Amino acid sequence: MTDLDALQAVLGPGARPVRHALTGEAGIALPPFADHHVHLHLIDPGPLAAGGIAAVVDLGGDPDALAGRRVGTPRVAYSGAFLTAPGGYPSGRAWAPDAVVHAVTSPSASPGVAGGARTAVDEMADAGASLIKVVLHAAGPALADDVLGAILDAARLRGLPVVAHAEGRGMAQRAVRAGVDVLAHVPFSEHLHGETIAAAVADGMAWISTLAIHAGSPDAAVARTNLERFAAAGGRVLYGTDLGNTQAGPQRAGVSAAELTALQDAGIRGPELVRTLTDGWPAGAVAGLATFVPGGLPDDEFALPALLAASRVVPVEELLDTTR
Ligand SMILES: [Zn+2]
Repeated sequence: MTDLDALQAVLGPGARPVRHALTGEAGIALPPFADHHVHLHLIDPGPLAAGGIAAVVDLGGDPDALAGRRVGTPRVAYSGAFLTAPGGYPSGRAWAPDAVVHAVTSPSASPGVAGGARTAVDEMADAGASLIKVVLHAAGPALADDVLGAILDAARLRGLPVVAHAEGRGMAQRAVRAGVDVLAHVPFSEHLHGETIAAAVADGMAWISTLAIHAGSPDAAVARTNLERFAAAGGRVLYGTDLGNTQAGPQRAGVSAAELTALQDAGIRGPELVRTLTDGWPAGAVAGLATFVPGGLPDDEFALPALLAASRVVPVEELLDTTR
């Protein structure tokens, strides 16, 4: 086995041994990393690139404020506001000002109808959204099936995937049945039926991890078990932290060793673990940037989260390939 083979066996086909052209450090290059679930209005994105994150996906924010943040590093893709039932989650939460919540009152497929599904989707798409976020929360008012279906139809018309916040009994199952593309959180409210997991995998649904926000809660074990079954069946998993969510304490601005350790505990290891970070959903890979991991491979696979959390984003031209 060459050094390159050994590296790629642990970190996947995108890994290369490199030397940093400016600092002389030896290390490993990987494709750019993304945090697929953040809330920019609740955080300072400044330190993210130094912490290894080259791209973020904002899953609930003010569409007008976000439209001004599309340049620079990290690259930003966003959903705009949460589309929810009138008075539904997250209306009234301290972290969710009015501009980040959009009530959908009817399944109208006509443009320009106040409260209509098509109007809500058009508003987010016109503000530059790369995806649409819907809320299916069992506590409080929830979107009706016909409204949810109309949002999905309108999003398809605009070529946008739909991400659901699914929480409470039956909500993840509803999302799978409706044909939602991505779950914003690995389901954490209940153990899913095997048929629901199989259907999610068969439909190509992706689940965003957000496991570390459940630290210290019984939800953590439920999420872990659901994820273990989904991943073992071939489900697509995306790394995401819900950065801005502090229910389990403040989160680090950058790659989270806690999130990666929780993914590892659910059986997602080595190249599969790296792939959750390098998946380009929804906007494709970030051009011109790479991940630089100082140092070499750890002897112990379980040290990978700490290694990846020590990474930083660099321009590709700063890394010199040292493959022998
Ligand atoms: Zn969130």
